Amino acid sequence: MIIKKVEINRTVLDLKELPRGKFPEFAFLGRSNVGKSSLLNTLLNRKKLAGVSKDPGKTRTINYYMVNDRFFFVDMPGYGYAKVSKAERKRWEKLIDEYIRTREQLTGIVHLIDSKVGPTEDDVFVLYRLSRYGKDFIVALTKADKIGFGARRDVITALEGEFYNARVVDAITGRPMVARLKEVEDCSIIPAIFFSAKTGEGKEAIWKWIEQRIKGTEELL
Ligand code: GDP
Repeated sequence: MIIKKVEINRTVLDLKELPRGKFPEFAFLGRSNVGKSSLLNTLLNRKKLAGVSKDPGKTRTINYYMVNDRFFFVDMPGYGYAKVSKAERKRWEKLIDEYIRTREQLTGIVHLIDSKVGPTEDDVFVLYRLSRYGKDFIVALTKADKIGFGARRDVITALEGEFYNARVVDAITGRPMVARLKEVEDCSIIPAIFFSAKTGEGKEAIWKWIEQRIKGTEELL
């Protein structure tokens, strides 16, 4: 994707403030400090568009970026940050949940999970909801430069272990990320991509995934 133009469109605190119109939206969702700002900046070839924070949990608004006058990137508030108040946490859990469940323009979700940390309880909860709501999503396994081959297998196995009959597959090729002796039948599929803002690994694959989905919305515009 050639990025010609990126503009901050709006900062939203309430779902009533979401933009009207039919532009497809891609939401980016993950735990605070997972590397979401770094991923957004890498995808959009910008140094400081989304704030890489020294204060995790700071972004509590939904930030809309209009890309190439054609589609939105939606930066969702980071979840799972311990220091926020219970009430505040509840407020944006509800906001995120309602957005995912009801937003028609939502075309794809990039769910970020730290490949070094592995899936947290909150991550599993979010992933469970994404599949239950039948949303089109991929898991971006971030900070992949920090881990070696063995640890990559471990994070995939850990993710599969959180669900009943789940297989993590490469989001582009559809091939299982970890070979198994026995194939699992009727399994739920978790499409994933290893990503690193440091090396650029996975950037092209994520764009490819997004582009495939933008093509599917062309007739709507
Ligand atoms: P956010 O809170 O999810 O927006 O996360 P940030 O993008 O602000 O990143 C959190 C921390 O992880 C920062 O110190 C980043 O420098 C670091 N980080 C983010 N992405 C990567 C990556 O791909 N590789 C490495 N090694 N560090 C990263």
